[in-house]
Amino acid sequence: MKRGLLIVVSGPSGVGKGTVLKQFMNDPEMNLAFSVSMTTRAMREGEQEGVNYYYVTKERFQEAVANGELLEWTEFVGNCYGTPLAAVNRLRDEGKNVLLEIEVDGCRQVCEKCPDALTIFIVPPNMQELEKRIRGRATEPEEIVQARLAKASKELEHAGDYRYTVCNDDVDLAADIIRVIIRHHMNKEFWSSKIGREKSKTVQ
Ligand code: ADP
Ligand code: 5GP
Repeated sequence: MKRGLLIVVSGPSGVGKGTVLKQFMNDPEMNLAFSVSMTTRAMREGEQEGVNYYYVTKERFQEAVANGELLEWTEFVGNCYGTPLAAVNRLRDEGKNVLLEIEVDGCRQVCEKCPDALTIFIVPPNMQELEKRIRGRATEPEEIVQARLAKASKELEHAGDYRYTVCNDDVDLAADIIRVIIRHHMNKEFWSSKIGREKSKTVQ
């Protein structure tokens, strides 16, 4: 079976990553699986254990790091976040295109280990709109909102490190663009594996 793609989607907190990805996450033609990260941050209203994150203590997170259980990990606005490696490998081996929704430092670590990862960065139409979206979510105290905004400016400087940059002005349009990018790479992988097989047949 053909191994699934490894897809990294980043973008400042509040840009709408979750909202955009939800548009096609369950589309059977995309054959996607979401990599559920481990985090030490508190669960937000509406989130579910094992669906949005695995919510763990600092001690459990440190143990996972020490045991090499994480493909990558980072600290973000006072909390730790990391990608469980075993699940990513299992899902890709099952042929699933695995999608990681992680920040820029994590993406850098993933690209070092998996240079063929497909990387997509989502940007807001402007900073005022980003602030409006973060505040609109109204789930966090003012100092956290400020910290997330400061972090967002830093993160936006890394948009150029990604293979594709997509603006989330209109949710449906951003989702369609990302869908096309992923489909393009799925087809490319499909044909390169076919051509590779044909070539090796010719050589034999
Ligand atoms: P992220 O996953 O990047 O942290 P969310 O998906 O939680 O961001 O979105 C943050 C807020 O912005 C939510 O309230 C969401 O409804 C809103 N939002 C997302 N995309 C858009 C958009 N294109 N236009 C207006 N509001 C949006
Ligand atoms: P939030 O607290 O808003 O859910 O996430 C904060 C930031 O952490 C977001 O930019 C999100 O993409 C990122 N993030 C979530 N999971 C991981 C992970 O496993 N690794 C890394 N490096 N970042 C993550």
